[in-house]
Amino acid sequence: MSAKVSVVKCNSYEPAIVELAVRDTINLLGGITNFIKPGSCVLVKPNLLMSKPPEFGITTHPEVVRAVIHLLKEINCKIVVGDGPSVWGQYIENVEEVYEVTGIKKVCRDENVSLVNFDKRRMRDKFPLTVALDECDHLISLPKFKTHEFTPLPVKPRSLERGCKVCVVMFSPKPRALARGAGFTLITGAIKNLFGLVSGTYKTELHKDYFAPADFAKILVDIYQEAKPHLTIIDGILAMEGDGPATGGKLRQLNLLLAGGDCVALDTVMAKIMGIAHEEVLTTKEAALRNLGEAALSRIKIEGEDIDKLNIRPFILPKNRAVCAGKVINLPPIIKKIFKSLVRYYPYSLRLKCTRCGHCVKVCPKGCIDLKKNGIKFYYNRCIACFCCQEACPAAAIGVKKSLLAKLIGL
Ligand code: SF4
Ligand code: SF4
Repeated sequence: MSAKVSVVKCNSYEPAIVELAVRDTINLLGGITNFIKPGSCVLVKPNLLMSKPPEFGITTHPEVVRAVIHLLKEINCKIVVGDGPSVWGQYIENVEEVYEVTGIKKVCRDENVSLVNFDKRRMRDKFPLTVALDECDHLISLPKFKTHEFTPLPVKPRSLERGCKVCVVMFSPKPRALARGAGFTLITGAIKNLFGLVSGTYKTELHKDYFAPADFAKILVDIYQEAKPHLTIIDGILAMEGDGPATGGKLRQLNLLLAGGDCVALDTVMAKIMGIAHEEVLTTKEAALRNLGEAALSRIKIEGEDIDKLNIRPFILPKNRAVCAGKVINLPPIIKKIFKSLVRYYPYSLRLKCTRCGHCVKVCPKGCIDLKKNGIKFYYNRCIACFCCQEACPAAAIGVKKSLLAKLIGL
């Protein structure tokens, strides 16, 4: 066994219960000093995607953050808490709002620890990452257990991966078969949480430059390689399924906490609990290829709960996953290009819900949304279907629609 992940039940966000469960997850891995040096400076990074209260299940619960702070205080660490909410970029006043609404500000005030925003950066590899990483000795990442919508792309079938050099479009009777390789991230867990270390609006630039799912997975793994957390604890007490990771997802009371030092192993176990094979998660696949962690379930030692005996119903996956029927067709590149342009997904506005807050306009990497008198307007000719707008919308006012051909062939 080369990696260890602990899985512990926790059925409430009651502070004392969470604290006990967080302690259990860490003790099963040998205790906090196995990961963190006493007296060191530790950056604690929750997932604070947007300004929604904890009961929305979008952000890491403040009581999980508090429990980690207590553990670190016991070994005399200096603690810094922060995140770069994915949608607000340079709009510092909104980061403040995110900290306030998610309950993180109150926890930091109660516990008298520093809360920083990630507006100061330093280029590390090709990314402007927060300087808080330089100022701290250790990083503890606290992701939320959620599915992540993804953009479907035609992919090669497993049987042709080695043999066929021509581009191949697959029509498979198994929805999961096409989901594999086509995800934007499919899950937002240990590796994806590190995207928040990228400072300011550069996150939007990355979405723009790397909008193909496989490319985006690579840059997420680049970030993981550059800023590996020493410890990761996933808040899966209130989880999310369906069109996560924001207001489009559905809540799922999962009552679990997961912890470990290997993000690849953690994401593998998280995917297994969701009912997804680890090969379907592009970040896990890419990180395993680079030998950055353990992706094979058989080589991960799971401490605590036996996940096979938990009888967890498979998670609902994002609805814009590709679902096809039929057979394999080899197509020349030009036909494939036309096919891709005709089989598309688009964001659309649910006007009655739209509050005209403008967040989607600010976050769109292609500038294809305008704020109008009665809502928003999309310019689809420039849209790259990244769905950053849907993720950013605090009012769940952006849906996903399919092109006619996608509907006709059941994608
Ligand atoms: S409109 Fe939405 S999906 Fe299209 S490019 Fe802009 S943010 Fe992405
Ligand atoms: S669609 Fe959502 S993010 Fe965009 S303006 Fe309306 S409420 Fe705001």
